[in-house]
Amino acid sequence: MDKKGILIVVSGFSGAGKGTIMKELLKKYDNYALSVSATTRKPRPGEEEGIAYFFKTTDEFEKMIAKDELIEYAKYVDNYYGTPRMYVTEQLEAGKDVILEIEIQGALKVKEKFPDTLLLFITPPTVSELRRRLVNRGTETMEVIEGRLGRAKEEAEGMDRYDYLIINDKLDECVEEVHRIIEGEHRRSFRNQEFIENMKRELKGE
Ligand code: 5GP
Repeated sequence: MDKKGILIVVSGFSGAGKGTIMKELLKKYDNYALSVSATTRKPRPGEEEGIAYFFKTTDEFEKMIAKDELIEYAKYVDNYYGTPRMYVTEQLEAGKDVILEIEIQGALKVKEKFPDTLLLFITPPTVSELRRRLVNRGTETMEVIEGRLGRAKEEAEGMDRYDYLIINDKLDECVEEVHRIIEGEHRRSFRNQEFIENMKRELKGE
């Protein structure tokens, strides 16, 4: 069956718990590779260079754009965010399922460039839960939180462009659900053309 890596985009409102879900998914299963983005945002406490992000100045980021080193990039609440091309290409070729944890503008650009991309959208069960998680994170000012809620309103407009909606209520269940969806995606007939062709050939006695 399908051994090629799938490109997977995971989006969701800021505070939806994407980061935690991805971390657990990678801990539990070894077929995933998580792309590390470049950003001009300042590091939050505990965020390490090359693990959370590659932290860049605006000038450095714009040079990466000019050299076509990014698959996609977008501006999100006054900062640039983008996906470096090299890692994604290498990992897909190595048969890994590569996860991009990016916002919606970038997600739609990736889908346009690579139509076989699987798009997943993660959301808390309710808006009040979303607000509670953003406030409890405690790393951002009220102004930034309001900015992110404003952005959530815009992003909700694009939720139906995603292939699957994942409600992050219980973490463990959510991680399993994401994994099962990706496993199912590997079984899609269009991803298994070679298998189908081989079967047909064998059945014809060739
Ligand atoms: P945060 O500042 O909370 O780490 O990220 C803000 C938003 O930027 C999140 O929705 C996150 O998924 C998105 N993001 C992170 N990396 C990228 C990227 O490489 N490209 C795009 N388009 N969005 C990204």
